Amino acid sequence: RAAITEADYQRVVDEAYSKYKDLKEGANADYIPILATVPSEMFGVVIVTREGKVYSAGEMDYEFSIQSVSKPFTASLIMAEQGAKTLREKIGVEPTGLPFNSKMALELYPERSVNPLVNAGAIAAVSLVQASSEEDRWNKVLGNIEAYAGRDLKVLEEVYKSEYETSWSNRGIANLLYNYERLYSDPEEALRVYTRQCSIGINTRDLGMMGATLANEGVNPVTGKRVLDKEDVPELLAIMATAGFYDESGEWMYRAGLPAKTGVGGGIVAVVPGKFAIATFSPPLNEAGNSVRGLRAIGYIAAELGVGLYGPN
Ligand code: GLN
Repeated sequence: RAAITEADYQRVVDEAYSKYKDLKEGANADYIPILATVPSEMFGVVIVTREGKVYSAGEMDYEFSIQSVSKPFTASLIMAEQGAKTLREKIGVEPTGLPFNSKMALELYPERSVNPLVNAGAIAAVSLVQASSEEDRWNKVLGNIEAYAGRDLKVLEEVYKSEYETSWSNRGIANLLYNYERLYSDPEEALRVYTRQCSIGINTRDLGMMGATLANEGVNPVTGKRVLDKEDVPELLAIMATAGFYDESGEWMYRAGLPAKTGVGGGIVAVVPGKFAIATFSPPLNEAGNSVRGLRAIGYIAAELGVGLYGPN
C-alpha cells in the first residue's frame, strides 16, 4: 500500500466529518447533570501526526471535559513514576467486560483494582501518584496531562461541581477499594482529585496532540518533551486496546483495530502506533457511554487509510 499523503489525511478527515455530522443517534451523558447541557450537534475530527501536523474538520476550539480520556494518561504517569510493573501489580490490566462504573468488577478480581481505564482502577491510579499533599497530587496529575497536550489547561469548575456533588457511585467505589487495601491514599482525596482530573477542559486538537504524543513513542511532537519512556508506550497502548471502550472493547477492535480511549464528555482518541492519532469530539453517547459519531468517524478513517493493526493494510 502506498504511503499516506497529506492530501489523504485531509480527505479522510473531511469525509468522516461530513458523513457523520448529521447522525442523530445517542444522547449526551446526563448522570453528570451539566453534561446534558453541552450542545449535542458539535462535532470535530482531527488527525495529528507524530511530527505534529494537524488535519482537522469541524469543531476545534470548544473546551469539553476530558472525562475518562484522562485515564490512560494518568496510568502513564504511574508508569513514568513507578514503572509499568507497579501499574500491573497494584492496579491490574485485565479488561472487565463490564461498564466503566461497575462495582461487580471489584468483586470478580479480588486481588486488583481491575484496570486503570475503568473508574475503580483510575481512582486507584490517582491514589497511587507519589504526593505529599492533595495539592501536590493534583499538580502532578494536571501537569502530566498538560505535558501530553503541550499547553496549560484549566478545570471546568462547573463540571467539577456538578460531578462531585453527584459522585455517590464513585465514592462507593473508592471506599470499597480502600476496604480491600487497593486504594493508596485517603479515599475522599482520591475521589476529589480523580473528579478534578475528569473535569479538565480540552479541545479536539488537544486530544489529537495527546494521542500524537503516544504515537510518537512518548514525546510531545510540538514541545519535544518526553512524557513516557519509549519502552512503556506499548504496554499503555495494550491496555487501551483491551479496555478503552469498556464493555464494548471487543466491538471496537472489530470495527477499528486501534488502541483508543473514550470519555462521557464526548471525546475519543485513537492511536496508530509510530504514525499518528485520530481524535473526535461529539457529545451524544451510545449505551456503553461511547461517542456515536466519534466511533464511526474513527472506524471510517482507520478503514480508509488501512491502518487497523490487524490488517488489511
Ligand atoms: N468522570 C466520569 C465518571 O467517573 C468519567 C466516566 C467516563 O468518561 N466514562 O463517571
